[in-house]
Amino acid sequence: ALPHVAWIGLGVMGSPMAENLIRAGYPVTGYTLEAHKLDRLAARGGTPAASVREAVQRADVVVTMLPADAQVTAVAHGTDGTGGVLEHARPRTLFIDMSTVAPATATALAKAAAPHGVRVLDAPVSGGEAGAVEGTLSVMAGGDRADFEEALPLFRALGTTVVHCGPHGAGQTVKAANQLMVAAHLQACAEAVVFLRAAGVDLDAALDVLGGGLAASAVLARKRDNFVRRHHPPGFRVDLHHKDLGIVTAAARETGVVLPLGGLLATLMAAARAQGDGGLDHSALLRGVERLSGV
Ligand code: NAD
Repeated sequence: ALPHVAWIGLGVMGSPMAENLIRAGYPVTGYTLEAHKLDRLAARGGTPAASVREAVQRADVVVTMLPADAQVTAVAHGTDGTGGVLEHARPRTLFIDMSTVAPATATALAKAAAPHGVRVLDAPVSGGEAGAVEGTLSVMAGGDRADFEEALPLFRALGTTVVHCGPHGAGQTVKAANQLMVAAHLQACAEAVVFLRAAGVDLDAALDVLGGGLAASAVLARKRDNFVRRHHPPGFRVDLHHKDLGIVTAAARETGVVLPLGGLLATLMAAARAQGDGGLDHSALLRGVERLSGV
């Protein structure tokens, strides 16, 4: 029989990912803060739980897909003395955090889990909401190889590119690099679109030809419609990408590496939030370019 999965965090990414596991035959118990997301899970064949404790107590595998470091730490350790995953999971449980958090948070979690006999993997993903829905995510994992191999069938139900990157934290380090690259592509596309529009060329024709040359990117393909329509529903929120650029700039500082673009992109993301765009999709970097340009 397939392992029983407790899934915590049923947001933009977590909901479709948990549903892909259900479709693949996994028994899934879910917990998240919004009641309508639990109703949706139940309608798709999952079992809603009323707490972290209820979700994890019979699970073989616990997956978290939460916004940021603070929520992952709170769910792992519990808040207000309620106990978290580490306290309530059975020994030998495999705890897979698929959220994007700092590499240091991943290594601290693995260390805290060891005395409980809980095994931990960091396994953040790339591919966005579409990748989560289609089951075509890239999964970048850190932790013991044997644990990774045990989780491989589950990862294959969620993604098409699944790679063990190294020890605890390595998955998050690779994801930090991913977020730097994605932000750079987004900003480049946003600047090109504002420039092309102001120059009065046919934007669709321009993007067709750009998408066939060296300027082509997954970011352009996936976000083209958002840029052209100036429409930015989340998606991947600016707030979350801002968090990720904080992670990559802090991690780079620890290794002594200088990231000129990383610093600039973090500033542009911070400006987007300050202008009230934090809840929009990260393609809303376009609006920042427009504001700087007065168009
Ligand atoms: P989201 O805000 O849509 O979903 C987060 C979910 O966590 C919500 O359903 C919320 O109820 C739940 N949650 C928060 N605190 C909780 C708690 N204490 N207990 C239980 N549930 C709690 O976020 P998302 O877009 O799904 O992103 C999740 C993670 O995946 C983030 O780390 C993000 O950086 C990363 N990520 C997002 C995308 C994307 O395109 N959206 C792509 C790749 C990676």
